[in-house]
Amino acid sequence: MTVQRFDVPSRFAAGAQFTGGLLGSGSTGRTHAVIDPATGEHVLSYELAGAADVDAAVEAARRALPEWAGATPGERSDAMHRWAAVLHERTDDFVFAESIQCGKPLKLSQEFDVPGSFDNVSFFAGAARSLPGVAAGEYSGDHTSYVRREPLGVIGSVAPWNYPLQMAAWKILPAVAAGNTIVLKPSELTPLTSLMFAEAARDAGIPDGVINIVTGAGPDAGEALVGHPAVAMTSFTGSTAVGKRVAEIATGTVKRLHLELGGKAPFLVFDDADLTAAVHGAVAGALINSGQDCTAATRAYVQRPLYDAFVEGVAELMREVRVGDPFAHGTDLGPLISHAHRDRVAGFVARARSYATVVTGGEAPGGELAKGAYYLPTLVTDAPQDSEIVQQEVFGPVLAVLPFDGDDEGITLANDTPYGLAASAWSRDVFRTGRAEREIQAGCVWINDHIPIISEMPHGGYKASGYGKDMSAYSLEEYTQLKHVMYDTTGEARKDWHRTVFGDH
Ligand code: NAD
Repeated sequence: MTVQRFDVPSRFAAGAQFTGGLLGSGSTGRTHAVIDPATGEHVLSYELAGAADVDAAVEAARRALPEWAGATPGERSDAMHRWAAVLHERTDDFVFAESIQCGKPLKLSQEFDVPGSFDNVSFFAGAARSLPGVAAGEYSGDHTSYVRREPLGVIGSVAPWNYPLQMAAWKILPAVAAGNTIVLKPSELTPLTSLMFAEAARDAGIPDGVINIVTGAGPDAGEALVGHPAVAMTSFTGSTAVGKRVAEIATGTVKRLHLELGGKAPFLVFDDADLTAAVHGAVAGALINSGQDCTAATRAYVQRPLYDAFVEGVAELMREVRVGDPFAHGTDLGPLISHAHRDRVAGFVARARSYATVVTGGEAPGGELAKGAYYLPTLVTDAPQDSEIVQQEVFGPVLAVLPFDGDDEGITLANDTPYGLAASAWSRDVFRTGRAEREIQAGCVWINDHIPIISEMPHGGYKASGYGKDMSAYSLEEYTQLKHVMYDTTGEARKDWHRTVFGDH
């Protein structure tokens, strides 16, 4: 498994902002470095965007709006199909850029992030032509009523670093398919593939200004975008803590708000489950993207008869996972996004040693890997349900396993965190899985699997994991607003209902 590399500084010599169809520089005078987390080496230095750059990007999006909103769904769909074709020609560039900026093993970028994002483009190219509506009718008796579904205007989106390309796709695609224009702020740690995604759209003929990227810091460019008076809707993916701040700012300007926040997914194993499948599912579900996945399996609850064998099986499989250079053949697990984040994850595990057992992992690897932001797959047992490692989002390759006795207890424990993004239940009994599916409070419940997503189906949270859906036709609806149109069918100057205001009739 190899990939063609390109020279990142010369590719982004103009800067890491994309406004009105052109790559350019930020205007804050502050530079930021994209770092390869596997080596600690510089990938790119660029000038950050601030409020003035956000203003310029919003203005470009505002100017592009009438033409794009006025295009027919078929025209928008054609342009997006061309965009998908351009992206496919550039697959290798996207795989390389996503892996170098995030430390993702090539096989993850190549088989998950990049094809999944490109499939999203094709899905929304089709969905652009099939916005659902309701039948027209004479509901009052004297009027014909129907509903128009219209774009909102300029969308302001903010995205995290864990799946930069997929998050850019999830934000941009439903917005532009529905006829909006957009300004996206990716994480300043990982701007490369968002910029390349927007460039490919331009090269496919999507008009300048429809998609704009501002790369700046959250409290600076992020807040300027979220609070911008010309932005009609804020769509945010990130942590629950920042989501609360974003909600406060957006509320001040009465914007539509879409929040995709943190998660702490439970992994519920009943005693009739296929143990081998559950062990494999738990390790894959906990370690995907080095555990930096909002839906990752983070707390496994295992019914007592299977508990010991499950812990043993997970520990054994975790020790087999090959941690290493993301670009080397055979690497399963890459580094975390940064040394600072690795230290944060390590802090959770270090504190857990005082109240729980670290069965395997619990440290950074040495040798060649010591210079990267690596952390070994880690299994924690004996942690109390109310401990921080069970309740808070660690966002690293760390799985806590807890036992339970009755089915009621298992479901209660699965629901016992503030989050509700995703969950899985493992059993061969349809009545048990049916109950889990109904009673677990989460936006997605997998049965006998954990992690797969698909363009046709919605992704989004319950509880403190936010509200709003990404992907699927449901997300397309969220980027539109409904207008009720009511035609008088009587032609009367004095309508029957006027008697409630004047005269007796
Ligand atoms: P984060 O909340 O720190 O940052 C997310 C984005 O918000 C970044 O672009 C950041 O620059 C920006 N930001 C920071 N402060 C801001 C402010 N005051 N105003 C406006 N923008 C601001 O999250 P992160 O560390 O980048 O990503 C990890 C988090 O994202 C995890 O909590 C994870 O669960 C969550 N996530 C959720 C989903 C989902 O679909 N629910 C998907 C991926 C990641």
